[in-house]
Amino acid sequence: MRVEKRYAYYSAAIRAGISMGRQTFDRWGGAHGAACALGSGLRALGVPATSASASSVFYTHYRYMTAPRTTHCPAEGLKCANFTSLRDAAMHLNDYHRWSRERIADWLYAEEEKLGFITLIETEASNELFLEATTAECQGSVLH
Ligand SMILES: [Zn+2]
Repeated sequence: MRVEKRYAYYSAAIRAGISMGRQTFDRWGGAHGAACALGSGLRALGVPATSASASSVFYTHYRYMTAPRTTHCPAEGLKCANFTSLRDAAMHLNDYHRWSRERIADWLYAEEEKLGFITLIETEASNELFLEATTAECQGSVLH
């Protein structure tokens, strides 16, 4: 499925979609841009908030969302079942625990970090900054 915008990780798409409408429960989307947590991410990507869009977008761009991964429900004080993917756990947090989309995005971001994906990007960025700073210092010492 063709998307209008790209986000490096799905939690960022969810955050971007929050302002597009209110949160829905037990369904992907509603009128006036409303959507569940995962549906908000789809809206930010410029595709309809539907189960079919999610299947396509996850398969093409965010395969880790549906990849087999045993995920414990992070909600406290309740004994929930384990989930077999981040997608299913996120849907459960939205529909069953009624977590806010911000909170679900925070949780998902932490899971994405555990996958090592975000850490890698941030490390590369800070290495570049470090190299630039080092180069500037060297040039400075030559000039003085
Ligand atoms: Zn739960």
